[in-house]
Amino acid sequence: MSGVPLVILVSNPLIRDGRILIEPDVLGVLDRFRQRDLSTREAGGILLGYRRGIHLHVVDLTTPHSNDTRRRTGFHRESNEHQRVALARWSASGGVMDYLGEWHTHPERAPVPSAIDRNEWKVIVADRTTPMLFLILGTMGLPWLGVGARMQFERVQIPDQSTKIS
Ligand SMILES: [Zn+2]
Repeated sequence: MSGVPLVILVSNPLIRDGRILIEPDVLGVLDRFRQRDLSTREAGGILLGYRRGIHLHVVDLTTPHSNDTRRRTGFHRESNEHQRVALARWSASGGVMDYLGEWHTHPERAPVPSAIDRNEWKVIVADRTTPMLFLILGTMGLPWLGVGARMQFERVQIPDQSTKIS
């Protein structure tokens, strides 16, 4: 009983009939970075996948690099490695695998975005017309998920029946 959801499939509140699918492999990797004990520092990276019409399909992610800033409460991507991986995936996929969003952990059970988080996300979505995902993983249970585009930003509801817990 690891508590890792097998898959997350939810509605996108910014796009009528749009769905967001996060693959089990991605959730499995995320689970490894949960801050389950007091010494674990925040982790983060970017979410990669496909824009299939109005749908977002997360199939891959980057994980922390040694150059990133990792504190007990605070994560900042410093490394170029995240962009390098994103570009490599984009090239290898013939230009269809895309940067879909950002993820990081919080040392709390029910994660809530900080003011710093929201400010960073605003910068990312400011000049984008396509939606971006923002995921925060707490010490247990389902992640906090948000979606933003332009000046719009919404929390994505993750109903229990949209996931399967292993
Ligand atoms: Zn945060």
